[in-house]
Amino acid sequence: MLDIFQKAKQNNYAIGAFNASNLEQLKAIVQAAQNLKSPIIISTSQGESNFIGKKQVKALVDIWRQETGLDIILHLDHGKSLEVIKEAIEAGYDSVHFDGSKMPFEENLAITKQVVVLARAKGINNVEGEIGYLRGGSSLREAVEVKQEDLTDPVQADKFIKETEVDSLAIAIGNIHGMNKDQNLENPHLFLDHLEKINEQIGNKAFLVLHGASGTPEQDIKKAIALGIVKVNINTELRLAYTQSLKKSLADNPQVITPYKLMPSVVKAVQAVVEEKIKLFGSDNS
Ligand SMILES: [Zn+2]
Repeated sequence: MLDIFQKAKQNNYAIGAFNASNLEQLKAIVQAAQNLKSPIIISTSQGESNFIGKKQVKALVDIWRQETGLDIILHLDHGKSLEVIKEAIEAGYDSVHFDGSKMPFEENLAITKQVVVLARAKGINNVEGEIGYLRGGSSLREAVEVKQEDLTDPVQADKFIKETEVDSLAIAIGNIHGMNKDQNLENPHLFLDHLEKINEQIGNKAFLVLHGASGTPEQDIKKAIALGIVKVNINTELRLAYTQSLKKSLADNPQVITPYKLMPSVVKAVQAVVEEKIKLFGSDNS
């Protein structure tokens, strides 16, 4: 895991982390990576993991990895308790994110430390921690305003990384989960000067992760990657492509009841979004 992040950082690109909770989404993400010869991270949140099954998604990812020869990393996204982290580790996930960002700092620090110990014992070399306040969930919502006090504090980030020994850190730099209901509105701009401050403080102690990148202005994402972000998370845009194309497929084919005839256009729509993101992040042919 660290190798693909190291390589990404050296070559100024980022790896996309794409969420999936079923077979069609997984197929779309892997096919996009295969077309563009890109490493990818398959993320499952707690809800997504519970739906598809942790062991089940692990088995599916293993088969896709064997068949394609691609670097595919299976990652738990926003694990909120030690229990969920343990389940993911037991199921064979390659990478885990513990999100204690809503907890008091000291509690987040203490649990993240335990997560790192657990993960290391199983040979997992990417534990992602999180500090700072990320607003919103992976859905369509009213516009959200980011406040200065939400942003990850550089000094606190440095202390957190040193004490927990996490490999990567999800930061809040103006990014938010979800997208505006009014799709003509982009998400707020990133505070790129704040990202520079975090960089200056932490140096190469950990890799930086950008959550909530759906709907963020593309130029901001490019600049953030140039400033050292190595993992960019995309969920809402994939959910939107999935549901919109599924509704269309059902409406266009009212007589069809065969799932494998209704789903190819859905896979294609999700795949198109993933391909667009891989190109934006610059991980194609790497
Ligand atoms: Zn997130």
